[in-house]
Amino acid sequence: MNAWRTTRLGVVLLALAASLSAQERLALVGGMLIDGYERPPIHHAAILIEGNRIVAVGAVDDIEIPPGTRVIDTSGRTMLPGLIDMHAHLDLVGHGDYDRWYEFVAETDRIEEIMEITSKQLIDAGVTTALDLGASLDLLKVRERVRRGEIPGPRIYTSGPWITRVRLAGVPDELQNVVASPEEAAAKTHELIDAGVDVIKTWVGLTQADFDAIVEAAHSRGVRVHAHLYEPEAIRKAIDAGVDVFQHMGSGGNPPYEEALVAEIAHKGIPVVQTISHRIWVYPATLAFPERLQDPRLKASLPPDIYAELQRSFVDFERLGYFRTTPRQIRNSKVAARQLIEANVVMAMGTDAASPLNFHTEAAWREISALVDSGMSPMEAISAATKTGAEILGLGPDLGTIEPGKLADIIVVSGNPLFDINMLANVEIVVKDGRVMKGGDR
Ligand SMILES: [Zn+2]
Repeated sequence: MNAWRTTRLGVVLLALAASLSAQERLALVGGMLIDGYERPPIHHAAILIEGNRIVAVGAVDDIEIPPGTRVIDTSGRTMLPGLIDMHAHLDLVGHGDYDRWYEFVAETDRIEEIMEITSKQLIDAGVTTALDLGASLDLLKVRERVRRGEIPGPRIYTSGPWITRVRLAGVPDELQNVVASPEEAAAKTHELIDAGVDVIKTWVGLTQADFDAIVEAAHSRGVRVHAHLYEPEAIRKAIDAGVDVFQHMGSGGNPPYEEALVAEIAHKGIPVVQTISHRIWVYPATLAFPERLQDPRLKASLPPDIYAELQRSFVDFERLGYFRTTPRQIRNSKVAARQLIEANVVMAMGTDAASPLNFHTEAAWREISALVDSGMSPMEAISAATKTGAEILGLGPDLGTIEPGKLADIIVVSGNPLFDINMLANVEIVVKDGRVMKGGDR
């Protein structure tokens, strides 16, 4: 009887503690607010958070901060929604050579440790949501550990291994599902969804019937399909099959597209994640400042042996196979990267990090900066990297903007990113799900 009573009391106390912490209040006060909509910022703003939700937003004078609220001073800085990277690879750290990297990972058998490291790198860079497009299903375990709050990281969504007709040499089998028929493609789609992936990613060589089968299978389960695409022929098939999101299109690998094709994508509202900065912006940035390869943030975030392995891969980085065609891509990008922006295609931000030299510690701001270089205003680029990303993930009702009712994913950067978009490199405070993940004297 006594034991039962104690247990019951324990349950009541636990429930009480949970409801108290759910009402824990946090306020970010004083800085300029960019809310994710493309509208003028609110100066000297305040954001009030209860538990994991935003409950009030406005000018400091208009927001009542209840006593007992934890207040973080953001004066002199800018508050904006957490960034959403729509094309990340958490099993990569920016090593110069994919083949060698996968060998190293296999030798050392530490893929989960690496994914934990990259999760931390992402959240520190202000990326509060990341869509991984091509990892082994080990990422599902890391995704759950982040969700439970056991390790720091963004909200992780993943496709798991991609579906392709062509095996990519040097890449482990856990990252790719090679299919030989539409039936197999549909079966793989169901298998991945059963395993717990959030989206499906298609890679190359797929027939029209393959695309049709994958999209039909995925949509029957309420799952969206993201296609890795460059060539107009593959884009045509993907449009006809009803693929939900185009990845890489317009990233400069190709000459410009036919105007009619771009106009059709704009009219249909098919979202595109260009991933333009990896190679095309990252390579010249590295030629100009090779010191970025020894960035202290990179060194601090990696165990010494991984850092050393990375540094070995950076020797003579100009000769890396990954950048062999980059000069031509840079020339293509003068038109190709702008083309979709000028046609007003729906666009989100994705980095393809951590492809060679494209570190999670800085990929997001570099991609947003490249979007601005290619014709977006800083406000439009921020909205693409927050609001549009959330919508494409189907998370629009909960994420992507700073307004009452939404989950509290907020970053604070120094200075004014509307004046200089590269201010996004200086992320000082990160709040995810109402919890302070970085800065704020926690
Ligand atoms: Zn990728």
